[in-house]
Amino acid sequence: MPILELHDNDVDQQCSACQRVRRLPHADLEVGLQIAPGVFDLSIVALPVCSGCGAREFLMRTADEALPPPRVEGFPDRHRALVHALHAALVRAERVLQVRPAGPQTSTPPA
Ligand SMILES: [Zn+2]
Repeated sequence: MPILELHDNDVDQQCSACQRVRRLPHADLEVGLQIAPGVFDLSIVALPVCSGCGAREFLMRTADEALPPPRVEGFPDRHRALVHALHAALVRAERVLQVRPAGPQTSTPPA
């Protein structure tokens, strides 16, 4: 899970299962996850499946008031600050799940 370093268009991440370090392009990432039918969580960034071990990891952006001070060195504060920065970069790049509003059922009842 740890985010190691952010770059302009990608991010270095270490798989928490197999410790493999990989570089993930922003183009492969998206903010938002459907967690139930019609229910979306836009604080989550789903990472691609690890090619080393098949693990699927998710990053969760915490609330702004939980953001640590800018100069933090220790984990998990540094990780949390990097997740915030990555989430913001993806939103700026419009890499956000397109959520359809849950409207009324449009299916017609059987005749
Ligand atoms: Zn892995």
